[in-house]
Amino acid sequence: MPTVGSERSPQDRGAVNDGQNRTVRPPVRAPAGSYASAMTGSGIVVVEDDDAIGRALVGTLTGQGFTTHWAHDGASALTLADTERPGLVLLDLGLPDLDGIEVCRRLRALDPAVRIVILTARHDEVDVVLGLDAGADDYVTKPFRLAELLARVRAHLRRSETADVGGHLVVGDVDIDTGARRVRVDGAEIDLRAREFDLLVFLARNAGSAVTRERIMTEVWDEHWFGSTKTLDMHISALRRKFGETVGDDDAPSRITTLRGVGYRFELP
Ligand code: CA
Repeated sequence: MPTVGSERSPQDRGAVNDGQNRTVRPPVRAPAGSYASAMTGSGIVVVEDDDAIGRALVGTLTGQGFTTHWAHDGASALTLADTERPGLVLLDLGLPDLDGIEVCRRLRALDPAVRIVILTARHDEVDVVLGLDAGADDYVTKPFRLAELLARVRAHLRRSETADVGGHLVVGDVDIDTGARRVRVDGAEIDLRAREFDLLVFLARNAGSAVTRERIMTEVWDEHWFGSTKTLDMHISALRRKFGETVGDDDAPSRITTLRGVGYRFELP
């Protein structure tokens, strides 16, 4: 699949914007048991004013069986989110009418359960942090590969089906007994210090979502915390080491992804 959001292909130039609030439904029914057909609230609202990017996103998502709605500006996004109650919103932050961060905040106020993934320019870490603080669950930087975006979309819609059941928080091969404060990884118990356990529980409860360093420090350490996050890095390293992962190599496959300038994400399997 192509990369989207970098340059327009020649055939995209001069494309006609065919209107606001366009709704595109899947051409065929999604296979039984897929997220698209099994859940209510599994629809997606794409908020994107760039016609080429929006068309690529809507076309791909529709082709994968998702009921997809396209909003070309912030006001339409809020209207669609209210009427369609999507499971997920893909939100471009640079919109012609409203500030994308403000749209994010209003979407979150409208529906505490909707998954919000912001689309932003690469290296725009301030926007990402602001967006996450405004209630976004995750972000994707432009240009992005459609295959990667689809994987992220599926993970988020899947996550909304997961739950903390019977005092056990399970993410892939990690089984956290929150009552007994014990952790098993692939069946083998690992020994965590108190704060490492608290950190793991917080990350696992937000599995699949990007969480900022500031939010982790506030919620795991101290609500009035200010200053260095070196302690956080050390605890992340300890968790990775106890998971048997390579410490010090952020590019190695890991359950905990380092999001440079932003924070961390505990990956869904
Ligand atoms: Ca834009």
